[in-house]
Amino acid sequence: MKPGEIFIDALYRRPVPRRATGSATSVVTVDLMQKVGVFFPEAHQDAEKMAALAAAGHTELGLDNVMPLFSVLHESSALGCKVDWGEVDRMPACREPLYKMGDEIEIPPDLLNRPGCKVPLDALKLLQERYGDEIAIVGKVFGPWTLGYHVFGVQEFLINTILDPGAVKGAMATLKEVTVRFANAQIEAGADALCLADHATSDLCSPDAYADFLKDVHAELNDRIRCPLILHICGDTSDRISYIRETGLACFHFDSKVPTPTARRLAGERLSLMGGTSNLDLIQNGTPEAIIEDLEEKVRWDIDIIGPECAVPLNAPYANIKLLAEEAKSYSGSGAGPQGDA
Ligand SMILES: [Zn+2]
Repeated sequence: MKPGEIFIDALYRRPVPRRATGSATSVVTVDLMQKVGVFFPEAHQDAEKMAALAAAGHTELGLDNVMPLFSVLHESSALGCKVDWGEVDRMPACREPLYKMGDEIEIPPDLLNRPGCKVPLDALKLLQERYGDEIAIVGKVFGPWTLGYHVFGVQEFLINTILDPGAVKGAMATLKEVTVRFANAQIEAGADALCLADHATSDLCSPDAYADFLKDVHAELNDRIRCPLILHICGDTSDRISYIRETGLACFHFDSKVPTPTARRLAGERLSLMGGTSNLDLIQNGTPEAIIEDLEEKVRWDIDIIGPECAVPLNAPYANIKLLAEEAKSYSGSGAGPQGDA
């Protein structure tokens, strides 16, 4: 089986000949940019450079997928948010919110042709042409909760989940259409699977709020977007994995704040799991022995796709991701249930 087939089958928890390895979020580090000779911020804004840097996730690091949307602000920039595209060692940030809650959100008719969307769409096309036969090409969209943070500002958005939940739900219904349009355009451009990132982190969204505002939205996105979706939420999500499991999403990309056995127990046998490897303790600061010890725990608890928990810190050494990917491939495939203490 080719690496891309292993990745996609592992997303569905189908039997695979070896452990899959990959990431739904950025694996770019400063030393990887130096190795490839392509740098931020240009790689966010130029499709050729974006594709070249993303390809290194496979050619240099050995992952079974590539994912070119390194920043969180592509569709928000196309919506009109003013974006500071950052530096070689600093990720992009929103300069100021676009709306106040209650304002009517206008989705630009040329949304997908604006550079924020067009550059990653073109990069996905290039990656599909060059690597699509071999590896999985993964795109990324943001859900309406995160888009709400970007267009309203985090504080304005969150306070209104309490003061005016009807207005928040109305805004999310509009923003959800951005997620669907950008997702379907990425599939057309060549994405085999998509990361759906929605930052319903426990410190900013209670489990009740997840159930009230997001569970049905995520289930609807899963129905309307025709490729496997990998939900990414940072932080400790153990109080909401059982809800996520009911959305029908293929995979959950989890943070190391959820202990690995807890993640598998809550996800059950159908929802596949990706990530969970600590960025700070292992990818950035781990010894090879510590990385391998953690990998063994991931395999024991049948984590389907081995990789970092979230976008890797830009100052981490890429050698640690490469080591993790190489070692992961020496283990048998997932889907057989927890493998005891062997
Ligand atoms: Zn994250």
